[in-house]
Amino acid sequence: MRIVLLGPPGAGKGTQAQVIAGRFGIPAISTGDIFRANVSGQTELGQQAKTYMDAGDLVPDEITVAMVKDRLAEPDAKVGFLLDGFPRTIAQAEQLRDSLSDLGHRIDCVLELVVDEDELVRRLSGRRVVVDGKPVQRDDDRPDTVRHRLEVYREQTAPVAGFYEEAGLLSRIDAIGEVEEVTERAMDACGASQPGQSTAS
Ligand code: ADP
Repeated sequence: MRIVLLGPPGAGKGTQAQVIAGRFGIPAISTGDIFRANVSGQTELGQQAKTYMDAGDLVPDEITVAMVKDRLAEPDAKVGFLLDGFPRTIAQAEQLRDSLSDLGHRIDCVLELVVDEDELVRRLSGRRVVVDGKPVQRDDDRPDTVRHRLEVYREQTAPVAGFYEEAGLLSRIDAIGEVEEVTERAMDACGASQPGQSTAS
């Protein structure tokens, strides 16, 4: 199963990515997490990415696509994968399609988590991540950077949903509600609803 998870910052992609990937037994690959790990490890890739990330801008496609290709070549991604935070531009989506098709593969299912913008701003400004046991605000969760990231999403990433819609792969998922409810909607959309776990109640 090869899944792409789309959605604006604050839609809950990271949480859903873990749960959905776990249910399918595939790795969840988050480009944001890989970049952040490189920033804290002070690698060359981290140094290249940091300025863009702190500003809430996208890291250039060239850097991002090369990183994802390397990651997808690792053995655990042979059985499938869930991409969280990639592709984020049409160019990234096209390059992903082409490099998968060279291997005779394709994306099976694309999920777009939908949350209205007021709720996103509320969630992001209250979000804290745990570093060294303490809750801290991510540098790019400051209110002005959040607004800029939402703008970048609207301009550069929202069209990626259209790209997959044209390919007949897109499901839009209402991402408001309990984590489990959202997961069930997503599993249904990828054709994997489990008998006995009806979402109707
Ligand atoms: P969020 O979804 O909350 O914005 P992410 O962790 O997915 O957070 O991404 C954080 C930052 O990492 C982005 O703002 C961007 O700078 C960079 N980044 C992540 N994925 C990509 C990508 N596919 N292309 C370009 N930049 C990316």
